[in-house]
Amino acid sequence: MNNFKELRQQMINDQLVARGIRDQTVLNALNAVPREAFIPADLVEFAYKDAPLSIEENQTISQPYIVALMTAALELQSDDRVLEVGTGSGYAAAVLGEICEQVYTIERHKVLADTAQAKLKELGYTDVQVRHGDGTLGWPENAPFNAIIVAAGGPEVPQTLKEQLAIGGRMVIPVGTSLKSQKLVRIQRISNNEYKTEELEDVRFVPLIGAAGWKEKSDGTS
Ligand code: SAM
Repeated sequence: MNNFKELRQQMINDQLVARGIRDQTVLNALNAVPREAFIPADLVEFAYKDAPLSIEENQTISQPYIVALMTAALELQSDDRVLEVGTGSGYAAAVLGEICEQVYTIERHKVLADTAQAKLKELGYTDVQVRHGDGTLGWPENAPFNAIIVAAGGPEVPQTLKEQLAIGGRMVIPVGTSLKSQKLVRIQRISNNEYKTEELEDVRFVPLIGAAGWKEKSDGTS
């Protein structure tokens, strides 16, 4: 029998604090979410492993450190309105839901969107709204967002998402023309037409597929 609470605490110390994540709000949020609930049954013993894990549709639940790093880079306040592109398992949306009351998340695979929505509801994350669709188009009805987190790597920063950032809003997104490695980029909207861009780390994400991402092949892969 796995002691998930203890494994979670160990993950916080060994994978996050040891690597320099200091934001207590983010550490508390990752300590509050039962990651094991978002993992396929056959992989649940690896729930707190220092790695991404496979989920349905050939996608992944991101490594805890990457979720923490990206969430910390958003510098969230509890009343921020947040958009996530790439719901996947729903785990990062739950982490965001621990911090903010208004969380919107979009997933292009219907089975993942439906499974994540059911799981988030079951765990009481009723403020997290899940939509099935192309997240590179954003969620115009609920824009502007104070924070946007993109959990898949695209060739460039989608202009639509930049336009859906509030003035002062922050976006984190993996960007690069290689499918093997991207730069994690943080963008802040300074004014209507002015954005400040910083590079954080080299990362490797599954592809962002959509109107402002990679094109889908006829067999459904990128
Ligand atoms: N945040 C997720 C979690 O906590 O499990 C991990 C996300 S996984 C690394 C990236 C996800 O982005 C995949 O589920 C993929 O289907 C989705 N995705 C890729 N392109 C997308 C797009 N244009 N719109 C919405 N979702 C997209």
